[in-house]
Amino acid sequence: MKRFSHQIVSEINNLLSDSKKIVIIGHNNPDGDATGSALSLFHVFQKTKHDVKVIMPSKLSDFLLWMPKQEEVIIFNEEKELASKLLEDAEIIFCVDFNNSGRTERVKTNLEDAKAIKIMIDHHPNPQSDAQYIFSDTAVSSASELVYEFIQATSLSENFNKDAAICIFTGIMTDTLNFSVNSSRQETFKIVGELLAYGIDKEYIYDKVYNNFSINRLKLVGYLLYEKMQIIEEYNFALIVLTKEEMKKFNYKNGDNEGIVNMPLSVAEIDVSIIAVEKDNFVKLSLRSKGEVDVNLLARKYFNGGGHRNAAGGRIYKPVDKVIDLIKGNVEDFFSK
Ligand code: 5GP
Ligand code: MN
Repeated sequence: MKRFSHQIVSEINNLLSDSKKIVIIGHNNPDGDATGSALSLFHVFQKTKHDVKVIMPSKLSDFLLWMPKQEEVIIFNEEKELASKLLEDAEIIFCVDFNNSGRTERVKTNLEDAKAIKIMIDHHPNPQSDAQYIFSDTAVSSASELVYEFIQATSLSENFNKDAAICIFTGIMTDTLNFSVNSSRQETFKIVGELLAYGIDKEYIYDKVYNNFSINRLKLVGYLLYEKMQIIEEYNFALIVLTKEEMKKFNYKNGDNEGIVNMPLSVAEIDVSIIAVEKDNFVKLSLRSKGEVDVNLLARKYFNGGGHRNAAGGRIYKPVDKVIDLIKGNVEDFFSK
């Protein structure tokens, strides 16, 4: 564990040696990895003398609402006053699964203004942070994997338990799409082996995350693939646009579009897939790709976003009926260069 040098570890242990006010925060629209990273830290802090809270900018997707202690997460846009005060008073803030404060959206200013010592644990490229401690590595499967290494390297390791293991496993499983991507490091499987030794039920976790949708969601998937998917064969590209009207029709629940963007990639010829989802003031894009095609670049260049090479997100500040032509034009521009 070279990234956690003796010097750094003793500084962290020192920092944690007396009672502190601690906040753990993840990115907007927290996914399995952001939530797993944050809650695993929360679990290991439970029996310590520290006062620890988890804050998320927006609420968790429904498919994460079984995770141990998820009910204790403070949602910034639901409890703004409390969350702002906690950030202001915090002495240590853990920033997990995001590479710049902008990813916390409405919490950005509070986070940047906070006087706490910040510890960033992340796996996105190009970290930009004012954190005193930055643990960032794009080679790991997930932020959760790095959080596990962090916990094991520090005095927190003695508090690691089954609930923390469940949270770390959820983060690794979801960010690797159930071990299909970003999971070729031996270390990842070694860690998963260690998590299993805590008695976690990995099949139960899989079932909770992936088999937890409604009939309406399944029908929405069928509708989007049959009626809405557009293909540009020349660029091996698939696009799906989901409007608010359609979400209403299918009684859309938070998280229902999770995973849909990956489905077109199951076609041999398709290398890039985008789903565009209408929000209140913008259209949210999720981009996925296979192999060398870099959707992080695509998202950064055209869609005010970013992420990883094979999984990124972005935004278009235009009405939803304008986005099809715009996305197609940008994709053509990107691939013709
Ligand atoms: P998703 O499509 O699941 O929302 O996001 C896929 C990946 O892209 C995640 O790693 C996420 O952190 C990142 N991502 C999503 N939206 C944005 C965005 O607006 N800006 C940046 N920089 N990254 C994003
Ligand atoms: Mn992640």
